[in-house]
Amino acid sequence: MNICDLAPAYIRAISPYQPGKPISELAREMGMDEQSIIKLASNENPLGTSPMALNAMSRALGEVSLYPDGSGFELKAALSERHGVTSDQIVLGNGSNDVLELAARVFLKPGASTVYSQHAFAVYPLVTKAVGGIGISVPARNYGHDLDAMLDAVAPETRIVFIANPNNPTGTLLPADDVLRFLERVSPDVLVVLDEAYNEYLPPALKGDSIAWLKQFPNLLITRTFSKAYGMAGVRVGFGLAHPDVAGLMNRVRQPFNVNNIGLAGAAAALQDEEFVKRSYALNQAGMLQIVTGLRQMGIEYIPSYGNFLSFRVQGDVKAVNESLLRQGVIVRPISIYEMPEHLRVTVGLEPENEKFLKSLAIALETAGGAAADTIPEMTARFRQVASEGSA
Ligand SMILES: *Cc1c(COP(=O)(O)O)cnc(C)c1O
Repeated sequence: MNICDLAPAYIRAISPYQPGKPISELAREMGMDEQSIIKLASNENPLGTSPMALNAMSRALGEVSLYPDGSGFELKAALSERHGVTSDQIVLGNGSNDVLELAARVFLKPGASTVYSQHAFAVYPLVTKAVGGIGISVPARNYGHDLDAMLDAVAPETRIVFIANPNNPTGTLLPADDVLRFLERVSPDVLVVLDEAYNEYLPPALKGDSIAWLKQFPNLLITRTFSKAYGMAGVRVGFGLAHPDVAGLMNRVRQPFNVNNIGLAGAAAALQDEEFVKRSYALNQAGMLQIVTGLRQMGIEYIPSYGNFLSFRVQGDVKAVNESLLRQGVIVRPISIYEMPEHLRVTVGLEPENEKFLKSLAIALETAGGAAADTIPEMTARFRQVASEGSA
């Protein structure tokens, strides 16, 4: 008997998470110079990291021989001030993925179920299956969450509903009122995990005051992250906000030192640098417009996005188009594991990166796009025009 055969069947059934291809890997595979490659595949912040956070992290390097503060006192104090919650409502995580996993470990057991939307973040089924839970994927409506259908899908065994707002990889946004109405209607026996990883990219008018809902709903867990607008994906810091009892259970289950010294120091400093988040937001708005304009000129269908990324539909051979982009040094994300085999997801980058992406896409569609480029002459002409404009 192979030891692996003795692992629970629900573990063996998990398909591995497919991360964006690292620049170093593509450089190795293609014999390319790393400098010539741009990665627009993991929704990272193209501005890098707040200088204030970088400073704090350099200082923290002097303390890496010591265990971090397992209670995360300073970061929690900064978060409670920022968000108007008490420290005992906060769960810190090694990225918000860690918080999602803690929620699953606390509230699920084999046979319990979770509800999430089709095309929603891949980590929801992953954390569900890792503890023997059953994931119920609810068909999307216009690529977004169908909250009525999700409510109907809640079964007696359901313990968690995951809502990503905005959602990755579709970029769709639910109006705050709709989420609130969902909370009012769903059973209080079900934990609603509201994943707001892209909250900082929302225009102020579209940001609901979800944190205020915590007072009314002890079954609400809000997750946020320092990985996206704060530009700290590499040090892995995220957090959850919930009722103190919920946070307390999650804090019992987490590793005592799940967030490292450097991340704790960096995140606390990053919170003070509002200027950096503002710049990241503004850059994203401009870059999104640039990408959308380019795609429109090429006649490419895309899903309007509220995040720092956008998914667009490739008519023809997606694999060949992606390969062509890679050969041109542009890494985007194929999203067939999200049941979107015809789409690619691109992260909004710096202005020249977006331009390189658009130009490379035009070339990729012309050379590898199959049906679209071969059979629609006027489209091919448009690809050429965008390609030559891009190189000018
Ligand atoms: C990127 C992302 C996260 C954040 O993951 P971290 O573990 O905090 O880096 C969470 N949820 C969604 C939907 C995301 O796209």
